[in-house]
Amino acid sequence: MNLEKIKRVPLISYLYRTFHIGYGTCGVCGLPWSNCRSHTVKMSGYDGFFPVCEYCWEHADIKQIKQACTKLYYIWESQGIPPYTIDEMHRAIDRLKAQKGELEMVK
Ligand SMILES: [Zn+2]
Repeated sequence: MNLEKIKRVPLISYLYRTFHIGYGTCGVCGLPWSNCRSHTVKMSGYDGFFPVCEYCWEHADIKQIKQACTKLYYIWESQGIPPYTIDEMHRAIDRLKAQKGELEMVK
């Protein structure tokens, strides 16, 4: 098991969070942004959002990534007005994954 995979074992990820309180976290593995690199989902221009880390963007399935988006949406909602709808976020993920050939069909 390589280090990146070990960091994402739930107990290890939990320990990272315990020692890095106050940081946002990846919506899939839960690692704080201080310990992993976020993957930006680009919307238009310079806008975008980062629901998951680079590792999870590559390794998690699209359903998990969309669930992370939904979680992020509700965090935004609790803080004010979300910049995108859940549907816009999910469509952006479909588009990016389709560009990489990871998704056969985009609605
Ligand atoms: Zn992650």
